[in-house]
Amino acid sequence: MLSLRNYDIKYVKGIGPERAKLLGSELGLHSAYDLLRHYPTSYIDRTKTYSVRSLHGAVGEFPSLQLRGRFVSFNVVGEGASMRLIGLFTDGSATIDCVWFKGVREMRKRLATGREYVLFGKPSYFHDNLQMTHPEVDPPEAVESAPGVRAVYPLTERLRQRNLGSRVLHGAVVAFLRSRTTPFHDTLPQAVVASAGLMPLDIAIREVHMPSSPETLEKARMRLKFEELFYIQTDMLMRSRERKSAIQGYMMPRAGKWFNDFYYQCLPFPLTNAQKRVIKEIRADIMSGRQMNRLVQGDVGSGKTLVALMSMLLALDNGYQACLMAPTEILAAQHFETISELAAKIGLNVRLLTGSTRAKQRRIIDEGLRDGSIHILVGTHAVIEDRVVFNRLGFVVIDEQHRFGVAQRARLWKKSDVPPHVLVMTATPIPRTLAMTVYGDLDVSVIDELPPGRKPVATVLRYDEQRAQVIKGIKAQLDAGHQVYIVFPLVEENEKLDLKSVTEGFEHAAEIFAPYKVAFVHGRMKPAEKEAQMSLFVNGDAKVLVATTVIEVGVNVPNATTMVIENAERFGLSQLHQLRGRVGRGADRSHCILMSKHNIGADTRKRLELMTSTTDGFVIAEADMQMRGPGDIEGTMQSGLPFDLKIANLARDGQIIQLARKAAEALLDSDPTLTAPQNRYFASALAMMLNRSTDWSRIS
Ligand code: ADP
Ligand code: MG
Repeated sequence: MLSLRNYDIKYVKGIGPERAKLLGSELGLHSAYDLLRHYPTSYIDRTKTYSVRSLHGAVGEFPSLQLRGRFVSFNVVGEGASMRLIGLFTDGSATIDCVWFKGVREMRKRLATGREYVLFGKPSYFHDNLQMTHPEVDPPEAVESAPGVRAVYPLTERLRQRNLGSRVLHGAVVAFLRSRTTPFHDTLPQAVVASAGLMPLDIAIREVHMPSSPETLEKARMRLKFEELFYIQTDMLMRSRERKSAIQGYMMPRAGKWFNDFYYQCLPFPLTNAQKRVIKEIRADIMSGRQMNRLVQGDVGSGKTLVALMSMLLALDNGYQACLMAPTEILAAQHFETISELAAKIGLNVRLLTGSTRAKQRRIIDEGLRDGSIHILVGTHAVIEDRVVFNRLGFVVIDEQHRFGVAQRARLWKKSDVPPHVLVMTATPIPRTLAMTVYGDLDVSVIDELPPGRKPVATVLRYDEQRAQVIKGIKAQLDAGHQVYIVFPLVEENEKLDLKSVTEGFEHAAEIFAPYKVAFVHGRMKPAEKEAQMSLFVNGDAKVLVATTVIEVGVNVPNATTMVIENAERFGLSQLHQLRGRVGRGADRSHCILMSKHNIGADTRKRLELMTSTTDGFVIAEADMQMRGPGDIEGTMQSGLPFDLKIANLARDGQIIQLARKAAEALLDSDPTLTAPQNRYFASALAMMLNRSTDWSRIS
């Protein structure tokens, strides 16, 4: 199978040089191997042909289906962009219009009246007229010689326009597979295939492109998913095992002046036991002589920043610099401020570096990093650019890691000869099987305790009809001297409408809560304006803050005891959880009111009700994943993997992940370096998947 990587796709029968070029540029398919690994997303049964008449008067949505007949006439109507070709098609039972908006001239040339064709497409009604837009049109011979069950492949619009559709791809794949009579060498070790009860690769590849039954197709898909996940698990495990046994790390045995001065002079409150425990775990790591790669999971508000800061101070005490990386500029700026303020008394030199840092400031930072006078650098992705050079970088903190993947982490290693210690912090508790994949190479610490005095936020679901009562409740909180957040969704696709509703929301709030002052922020404001409004609320001048989700990531106003979330039905569970974490930060009882229209689906209601019944971030994350399936979580997670998953799905395939993990452990127990003869083929398949030079895998 692997040797097909050297089989240029242009030599595959039915592809040729022209199509090869397109497939390369559009889908990144360059070899026969790539083609076989381009899995179908669905399948169509072309064994059935419908009569046009049976479609007339039918209600509801049509699936894509097949017709057989002739064109009676062609008309080109309209001009320029609105030019279209209409072909009147009949099978003798009734007629249907076929419409092309694109490739009008080409189609007109290709098609003839009176000749028999097979159409495939999705019928619809337009002004009571049955029509099919952009159907596939084939001569009957072509369809008859093709298999009855046809695979549908992921394609691009451009490929479709160039007539390189699923039919062509499928035809080429099928012909190619039929021409290969010797079975493909399995990429997985035989022992793994046997113990996990997998379908052999040769059969799986054939089945996934040409299923012989739903059951065999399912087994084939399972095998291919397992394979992808097994590569990832093996890679993760090998790296963490190797790191633990071989990779040296900076020795940081001392807790000295920085740490102690901070502890005795700056710490505004006693550490929680969980914080102490995690700091101890980190200390043990950095004293071990091996490189630390540790994930700290802690719910919103559990005090991760402090743990990060104190760990970085330990690095300083041993003569190293540290850096803290956040996924957004807002978050980076907030960390920078928090750390600067917390450590003001001890003369820590902290700097902020983001994409928008000016050239002049940047030069100063570059210099300070090189000469070692900057102790801690806080920033966004900008800090991992190659041009950023530290004097002695020894410790790296990555906050909200789910947006930084294994590959990005690896870039950091390159910043010094010995890899720095890495501490990853996440506030988004993620389900265990996901963690296994995305953080599979990390040791895990959990801050499972909130600072004292925090009471769980009382959460209720209210409908628009109950708004008057909600307003009354808010007023009572304001009269008691507390502050209130009112949050609106702002979704890019709906931006205009959303901006309108948040602006109206602000105006309305300003009116009904007068004389209390209302501040207003949304994501589209200029940073300076945003900051001005935000500080009104932070310093207490404004009692109400109307905002879009920009507040999700960080503001800390303990006096704010109430959060109203408008259109709560439009938020994801994890997002609601993050938002809710903005209240309940002081000693007073806090409230979160989820506002929703009454008319919502059962699933949405279930989601919102879950929010009212628990404040446990892990429960919420698990439920979020179950309910949303491959939602945002999966998207962002996936971006952190060493290669794109083609068939496995992190959100849905938890069970397969676990299986793959177990199998990878067993394999590495018996052959830690994958050098045994029976594992060599797999080892090269793995290296190829990871497309990684050896030194990369050795140091990370
Ligand atoms: P997160 O884990 O969400 O990043 P933060 O680090 O922002 O949490 O901490 C949340 C709030 O809790 C901050 O205001 C911080 O100062 C405060 N905090 C952190 N640790 C403690 C503690 N041990 N006792 C009291 N408050 C604490
Ligand atoms: Mg934080």
